[in-house]
Amino acid sequence: MTPIRVPLLTSDQIDRLPDRAREVVEYRKSGLSLNHIEGCPLDCAYCIRHTYGLWDQRVPRALMTDAQAVEELVGHRYFQPHVTPIQVFNRATEPFLPAVRPHTFAVLEDLDARGLRNHVLVITRHQMKPDDIDRLK
Ligand code: SF4
Repeated sequence: MTPIRVPLLTSDQIDRLPDRAREVVEYRKSGLSLNHIEGCPLDCAYCIRHTYGLWDQRVPRALMTDAQAVEELVGHRYFQPHVTPIQVFNRATEPFLPAVRPHTFAVLEDLDARGLRNHVLVITRHQMKPDDIDRLK
C-alpha cells in the first residue's frame, strides 16, 4: 500500500506563511533542525508551533520535497558532515503521524545513503510500530 504523504504547498501559499515558518533549516538546540513539514492535529500544551505562527495549522503540509529539504540541510553554511547534530521535525509537526512517517524515513534514509554519521534526534509522542523500530535500527 502506498503510504499517505502530506500535500505540498504552492509557492503562493508558502509566501503567505509567517517568516519563521518559511525557514526550513534553522539552528536549534546546538544543532541544525530540519522542518519542511509543518502542522499537527495533536494539542500538546507545551507545543511551540505558535512561536512560528502555526498554532492553527492542524494539518501537516510540506514546503518542499524531502529530497530538496535534505539538500538544503547538507548545503547549510553551518552543516558539517559527520559532526553537526541534526533534528528532524521537532518544532511544528510530529514525525510519526501516519502521514508524516514516510517523510521522516525518507529524510533519514537519504542521510544514511550519503554515508553521513551525524547524530540525529527524532522525538515522538506517537505510537511506534515494530516495523518502525526495525527500520530505525
Ligand atoms: S506532537 Fe509536537 S507538533 Fe504536535 S502538538 Fe505536540 S508538540 Fe506540537
